[in-house]
Amino acid sequence: MQITRGPVGGTAAPAEWFTGEAWIAPVAEPGARTQGDSVRFAPGSRTVWHRHPLGQVLVVTEGAGRVQRRGGPVETIRAGDIVRIAPGEWHWHGAAPAVPMTHLAIEPIPDDGTSAEAGEPVGDSEYHGGLAEDVPQVTRTVVLDQPLSRPRSTHRVEVRRITIAPGHAAGLHVHNGPVFGSIETGSAVYQIEGEAAAVLGPGDVFHEPEGARIARFDAGEDGVTFLGYFLLAADEAAEMEFPDR
Ligand code: MN
Repeated sequence: MQITRGPVGGTAAPAEWFTGEAWIAPVAEPGARTQGDSVRFAPGSRTVWHRHPLGQVLVVTEGAGRVQRRGGPVETIRAGDIVRIAPGEWHWHGAAPAVPMTHLAIEPIPDDGTSAEAGEPVGDSEYHGGLAEDVPQVTRTVVLDQPLSRPRSTHRVEVRRITIAPGHAAGLHVHNGPVFGSIETGSAVYQIEGEAAAVLGPGDVFHEPEGARIARFDAGEDGVTFLGYFLLAADEAAEMEFPDR
């Protein structure tokens, strides 16, 4: 028994067979009657059109990708999926536009030694299923992943839309629980006492730590409107203190 610890890097895939970057790590023994390789595709990379004399099985082990057989639609595949490609069937496979993909590729080798046949590259339009550009239906971006200053039991989250008049400064204040916010319109200068000031604009998110002295939350010349999320216990009210100093 021999264990090769992953991830297995592999060697750069040949340019005549791939568009974009890919790496191949052989899995089967050299000379075996079945060829097996772990192939990792960088986002957007794919094979050229090709076919295998006895077909091929792909097992997606990581990420998400695309596969297409001649005359069929571009199909999305992801980790856990198994793709069976018929003998002689023209096809291509590769990563999704924004996500890498790794698959195990298994293909029997014919007795006469006939190898796979490469065709033309898969162009961008073809890769995107004939659409000029691939428009994602949903995008998800983490804009803040904020540890709290202390673990707390939150039973409610009160969401408030707060508007501060142009040029008005909230003044030094302290919240009794953590507050998160995201700016909708306008701008504000935000500063935790002792830390650097930041100018927040639409789409920016911020965190006012529980008990922290917030030195500034000053609306800009257009004022500011933001959503504030107040993390609260069941019987707790959001409170704000304005220390003299
Ligand atoms: Mn193939």
